[in-house]
Amino acid sequence: MRGLLIWSVLLGAVLGKEDFVGHQVLRISAADEAQVQKVKELEDLEHLQLDFWRGPGQPGSPIDVRVPFPSIQAVKAFLEAHGLGYTIMIEDVQSLLDEEQEQMFAFQARSRSTDTFNYATYHTLEEIYSFMDMLVAEHPQLVSKLQIGNTYEGRPIYVLKFSTGGNNRPAIWIDTGIHSREWVTQASGVWFAKKITQDYGQDFTLTAILDSMDIFLEIVTNPDGFAFTHSKNRMWRKTRSLTPGSSCVGVDPNRNWDAGFGMAGASSNPCTDTYRGKFANSEVEVKSIVDFVKSHGNIKAFISIHSYSQLLLYPYGYKAEPAPDRDELDQLAKSAVTALASLYGTKFKYGSIIKTIYQASGSTIDWTYSQGIKYSYTFELRDTGRYGFLLPASQIVPTAQETWLALRTIMEHTLNHPY
Ligand SMILES: [Zn+2]
Repeated sequence: MRGLLIWSVLLGAVLGKEDFVGHQVLRISAADEAQVQKVKELEDLEHLQLDFWRGPGQPGSPIDVRVPFPSIQAVKAFLEAHGLGYTIMIEDVQSLLDEEQEQMFAFQARSRSTDTFNYATYHTLEEIYSFMDMLVAEHPQLVSKLQIGNTYEGRPIYVLKFSTGGNNRPAIWIDTGIHSREWVTQASGVWFAKKITQDYGQDFTLTAILDSMDIFLEIVTNPDGFAFTHSKNRMWRKTRSLTPGSSCVGVDPNRNWDAGFGMAGASSNPCTDTYRGKFANSEVEVKSIVDFVKSHGNIKAFISIHSYSQLLLYPYGYKAEPAPDRDELDQLAKSAVTALASLYGTKFKYGSIIKTIYQASGSTIDWTYSQGIKYSYTFELRDTGRYGFLLPASQIVPTAQETWLALRTIMEHTLNHPY
C-alpha cells in the first residue's frame, strides 16, 4: 500500500496534479451561535487554505472542512482552544483519490453503445460527451442535443432535449454538475438520460410526462471546472474564469444568479470558494442557461442537482421570508423524498435553502423561481459526509436510481398541476 501511495504521488506529480496527501476532512460541531461564529473566524484565516465542504450554518448542523496537512495542527489547536468538538471523517484524502483513480482506470473502456456504457464508474468530459452523441444516434426521434453556449475556456455547453413532438411544449429542466467536484451528480445525469430513453413507452408516468412535456437535461453544467477536476485538481468547485486584479481563478456559479445577488450568503473575495463574481450572470455558463430559460419561456419545473448532504431544497436561499408557494413546495418535497427513500431507505431532509442549510444569495433556483418557475428545487445527493464529494463509484447507480424516483414525483406533479 505504501509503495502504491508513493507511486501515485509520483504519477500525480508527473501529470501535474494537485496532491492531497495527509489532508484530512474534519467534522466540526458548533452547538450554538457563538461557536458558529468561531468557525466563521476560522474560515477567514486564508493562510490555512481550508476548504469547507459543508460551511457553517445553523447551530447543531455539521460543518465539514478539508484541512491541508501543514494546517492540521493549527486547526485542531484552534478548535480545542474554543471548545469546538470535531471528529476525523477522512484520514487521508489522497488515499480515497487513489482508489477512485484505480477504479476509473480498471473500468476504462470505450463503449460503442449506451447499452455497454459503464454507469458504475466515473467518466471524463470527453466520455460523457461521446455518451450523449451515442444516445442521440440511438434515439433520434426522442433525443436531440442542443448547444446553448461556449464556456469561458471555449468548450461547447450541451443540453439534451427529450421530446416526442409539439412546439415549445411546457418543459422540465434538470441540471447536474454546476459544481464540478460533485462527481456523483454528473454520473447520475448520465444515468437519468439513459433511463428516460428506456422508460419512455414502458413506464406509465414517464410516458405521460413526455407525451405532453419536454425534458431538458444539462449533464455537465460547468465543463471547464469538470475538465479541471480530472486534469489538475479533483476538489475544484467553481468556473475557471479569470478575475482582473486577482490571481485567484473562478466564480461560484451557484452564487452568480440575479436573485439577491451580492447580499449576505456569498463572498466578494475571488479567492474563496463562494465568490459571487463581479456582477450577476458574469459567468457564461450561468448566462447561457438564463438566456435559454428566458427565450424558451415555458419551463414549469427547474431542478438543479448538487451533492452532498441528502437534502431537497426549495426557495428562498437569500431571504428568510417564505416563498409564496411554500406549502405546495413543501408537500411535494415530502412526497419526493418519501419516494426516494422507498428504494434503499436513504433519508433526505427537506425545506427552504435558508432554513435548512444557510443563507445563500445568487443561487440558481431563487432566480428561476423569480422567473415564475414554481417548481424550482435543488437536490443535495448522497452521502451525509462519510465520503462527501469522494463518493465511491459503487454508489453511483443506487444514488441515481433513488434520485430518479424523487424526480419522477416532481415531474408527475408538474404534469398534473398545469399553471
Ligand atoms: Zn454544489
